[in-house]
Amino acid sequence: MIKRQTMPLQDKDKRKHNFSEVAQGFSLQQIKIEASRCLNCKNPLCVNACPVNINIPKFIKEIINDEYEKAYCTIYQENIMPGVCGRVCPQEKQCESACVLGIKQDSVSIGALERFLGDYSLENDIFNKEKIIDNNIKVAIIGSGPAGLSAAASLRRLGYSVDIYEALHDFGGVLRYGIPEFRLPKSIVDEEINRLKRLKIKFHKNAIIGKTLTINQLLNEYNYKSIFLATGAGLPKSLNIKGENLNGVYYANEFLTRVNLMKAYKFPNSPTPIKVGETVCVVGGGNVAMDAARVAKRLGAKEVFVLYRRDMDALPARREEINHAIEEDIDFRLCLNPVELIGENYRLKEVKAEIMKLGEKDSSGRKRPIPTKTYKSFKVDSCIIAIGQNPNPILKRTTNNLKVDSYDRIIVEDCQTSIPGVFAGGDIVTGAATVIQAMGAGKRAAESIDKFIKTT
Ligand SMILES: Cc1cc2nc3c(=O)[nH]c(=O)nc-3n(C[C@H](O)[C@H](O)[C@H](O)COP(=O)(O)OP(=O)(O)OC[C@H]3O[C@@H](n4cnc5c(N)ncnc54)[C@H](O)[C@@H]3O)c2cc1C
Repeated sequence: MIKRQTMPLQDKDKRKHNFSEVAQGFSLQQIKIEASRCLNCKNPLCVNACPVNINIPKFIKEIINDEYEKAYCTIYQENIMPGVCGRVCPQEKQCESACVLGIKQDSVSIGALERFLGDYSLENDIFNKEKIIDNNIKVAIIGSGPAGLSAAASLRRLGYSVDIYEALHDFGGVLRYGIPEFRLPKSIVDEEINRLKRLKIKFHKNAIIGKTLTINQLLNEYNYKSIFLATGAGLPKSLNIKGENLNGVYYANEFLTRVNLMKAYKFPNSPTPIKVGETVCVVGGGNVAMDAARVAKRLGAKEVFVLYRRDMDALPARREEINHAIEEDIDFRLCLNPVELIGENYRLKEVKAEIMKLGEKDSSGRKRPIPTKTYKSFKVDSCIIAIGQNPNPILKRTTNNLKVDSYDRIIVEDCQTSIPGVFAGGDIVTGAATVIQAMGAGKRAAESIDKFIKTT
């Protein structure tokens, strides 16, 4: 039995003081060993478990045959960002969870193989040079996150003239402003987006649709035949407790944007620092909370703790991220729910939290947290709230007849919204999900847009 290869990691005592990548990637030798573990199943369940249906056994076979360029192209056909997805996809819940080898041993490390090919293609400037026959029909994409980028690539391959409009001053959505450098280096995001520029997709920054231009204008004055809305779920949920407006209280999205997009992680080499103080509390238990906590540690906080209202087993973050956080001395204070943020002179000083006990399982399958009316307080310098995000309501407010649900998620049927010719996908439709789910939605939307344009 050949054992699953272990991902080499940056030393845990060093890495909590820097923003360099934690996971170092497999060596070529590890890649060959890992690829050789694939059973090459007749009915490869991993393919269906991948939201973009990458032909996984095919690219693994190509790796075994030393055909790395071919292997990369096999992935690129379905997924334009292997370097990104190899790093951030929750493979343990997707392709790897369906790997037949996983029944008796550890599944094949498909994500690490994908990452290797993504990096190999960037290092060797391998680019899937596709012949595109222009049809000169204009389509606009709103938002440059994974959903928008994936739809753009699929539409461009079909010959459409594609413009991406992005509200921020740089492209990539959460890949750019949310996921920290130590998990996803910005150079990988840059390179994979550059490839789309080489396909002649046009990128427009600082364009807030709903403010700079409206959907109506794009359809009627700019002559786009169709529009794809991929604006994500960037509006943070609030705790709705006293003291949330004190200095020293951040929402995770704002905090991570200041660190990533505004480059606070590069201080003093960038003039945009963010001060977290010595003790930082992060509220929430998902991936965003783990990112915020690990970033706060790297910004110099001596003590960082996660406050979560259930127990360790119920934490929704990826196990790998939780383990990395623990290794980096992030403390978990469990069964606690913040009820007040207490300040002095408008500055946060203390977090007061109610102790919760766990009851019967609720609809999420996790034990329900029940308030006990007993409290604990913690002295802190900063508090980062990471309890989820909703879609920003700007498009709903500025677009007549755009139907949304009670969480402001756009309602779609076959990717089409309530406005003919206007499509939507990614987090704006599903609520906060994953990179690869958003990319899958972008691909499906491109097919629906193509069908719509060809039949109207
Ligand atoms: C901190 C963090 C960490 C995460 N980690 C992971 C992970 O490890 N693995 C994983 O699979 N998923 C992760 N996710 C979730 C994943 O990133 C999202 O599900 C995914 O990015 C959604 O893609 P999207 O294209 O729908 O939206 P987004 O990535 O949010 O992109 C939307 C884009 O639209 C732009 N936009 C918004 N409104 C407008 C407008 N009116 N006009 C023009 N542009 C607009 C935004 O600026 C943004 O660039 C994480 C999320 C966060 C916040």
